[in-house]
Amino acid sequence: MFANLSDRLTETFRNLRGKGRLSEADIDGTIREIRRALLDADVAVPVVRTFTSNIRERALGAEVSGALNPGQQVVKIVNEELIGILGGETRAMRFSKTGPTVIMLAGLQGAGKTTLAGKLAHHLKQQGHTPLLVAADLQRPNAVTQLKVVGERAGVPVFAPEAGVTREDERPRGNPVKVAKKGLKEAEQRQHSVVIIDTAGRLGIDQELMRQAADIRKATEPDEVLFVIDAMIGQDAVATATAFQEGVDFTGVVLTKLDGDARGGAALSVAEVTGRPIMFASTGEKLDDFEVFHPDRMASRILD
Ligand code: GDP
Repeated sequence: MFANLSDRLTETFRNLRGKGRLSEADIDGTIREIRRALLDADVAVPVVRTFTSNIRERALGAEVSGALNPGQQVVKIVNEELIGILGGETRAMRFSKTGPTVIMLAGLQGAGKTTLAGKLAHHLKQQGHTPLLVAADLQRPNAVTQLKVVGERAGVPVFAPEAGVTREDERPRGNPVKVAKKGLKEAEQRQHSVVIIDTAGRLGIDQELMRQAADIRKATEPDEVLFVIDAMIGQDAVATATAFQEGVDFTGVVLTKLDGDARGGAALSVAEVTGRPIMFASTGEKLDDFEVFHPDRMASRILD
């Protein structure tokens, strides 16, 4: 995903290596190259601005430490700032102490929510949880069927509206808020430890669907509301993330399609713009193409 960005940064740092002292001009040149590389990777403009101005300030004021030469010092600063915009610490998932842990998924259609629902269920099952998937995406023809397929693959049961889908191309009937609540009740009765609620998305921001998602949130009081975003979304990342933050006030972010070779700027923008941690990453279409997101490991991958 970050091959191009990674190569550009490596090249920039190579030019610094071996310099005994860094002048202000050296630092400004480096910052300029970093800025260009980030913008070319589709990182949001305000994020690039904050990032580069922090690096400049720290690089200019850096004490030359005994162990590191000035070039290495700059690399260390960039690494630390990169971890910072990726959210800093790894944020572990919150589990409920009383009843089933409720996780709600929200995001645009095609972001990879349904696929992610299966992966997350699989991941939690491997950790000893007993998840239940709830199909509250009643908007898209086939969404319920797709979740059932995903659930079967993960070996996790799926709660779906009773009316069900009568034809593949027909919209499932039912009220998504009621389905979500019923799913939660079912999980309590059957003592599932986790409930994952898949909700509807649209290709663009849609007020009615956002209200529906907000209603599901209110009705089910999730422990985590995960905003699922396609890392290849480009410069739309900020507007989309902001709309979902206002609409459903998500608690964490999941990046999908990190296996793609597009520019991936969304990945580097959403945590900083929304102040919400990136918690998981999806890296392919298979059940195991999933990882817990660690900002420091991602920064190392980009800078290696
Ligand atoms: P939803 O509309 O948000 O539920 O999105 P889906 O889960 O249906 O995913 C949309 C498409 O993206 C499907 O074709 C998935 O197979 C694909 N997809 C989802 N996650 C990933 C991923 O991490 N990598 C790749 N390459 N494809 C993915």
